[in-house]
Amino acid sequence: MLELRGINTYYGNIQALRDVNIHIAEGEIVTLIGANGAGKSTTLMTICGGTPPRSGEVLFHGKPIQHLKPNKIVALGISQVPEGRLIFPDLTVQENLDLGAFLRTDQDGIRQDMEYIFDLFPILAQRKRQTGGTLSGGEQQMLAISRAIMARPSLLLLDEPSLGLAPIIIQQIFSIIEKINADGTTVFLVEQNANQALRIANRAYVMENGRIVMEDAADRLLANPDVQKAYLGM
Ligand code: ATP
Repeated sequence: MLELRGINTYYGNIQALRDVNIHIAEGEIVTLIGANGAGKSTTLMTICGGTPPRSGEVLFHGKPIQHLKPNKIVALGISQVPEGRLIFPDLTVQENLDLGAFLRTDQDGIRQDMEYIFDLFPILAQRKRQTGGTLSGGEQQMLAISRAIMARPSLLLLDEPSLGLAPIIIQQIFSIIEKINADGTTVFLVEQNANQALRIANRAYVMENGRIVMEDAADRLLANPDVQKAYLGM
């Protein structure tokens, strides 16, 4: 479904990604783990059109998308839940969700997806008329995920959904990510919380200093002593 081939991305003279190769098949949950500053967010921004690569290709269903503008990439079916959530704090929950659907015109589909979201996160239905800024951190993460789903993506990109949340809320968010995947959305999950991410993913990549240094089935990486030592605190 998605393939990154030989990606090199720069911020000015600083090279953030070095010959990155990643592939994601339809239906998978794939995770990218790594320390602070490894280049995980840059990888997502490169896919979304925020920081186009200097060289290499991003292929979506075999077609290059690395030079498309972000709105065109969303229209193709790729939506991102950015790090730090970035919901609109002064807009209501409902208005935030409506914005997620701004490229769509299929009113019936939009209504269905709104119901789907309120089913996934009943708390958001209760807080529809509340402004985003008054929600708890966990609820804001739920809203950010929901807003991305309102674009009806076939591929959902998540940047550190566990950041700053209590363990019980993280559990909840991760089981919802599994449910969204089981309902047919392919997931690419960037996480520093390697333990949780590897538990729900099919396959995983490990990034260090802008390079992919390991790639394997998630359960094999969970059992790998090097990964346990460097990323799982064991
Ligand atoms: P984090 O978990 O902290 O978000 P990350 O793995 O997502 O880390 P990136 O944010 O992709 O890492 O950063 C990769 C490298 O690129 C880092 O060295 C970072 O300092 C640098 N970088 C990121 N954004 C910019 C920017 N806008 N301008 C210059 N350098 C940047």
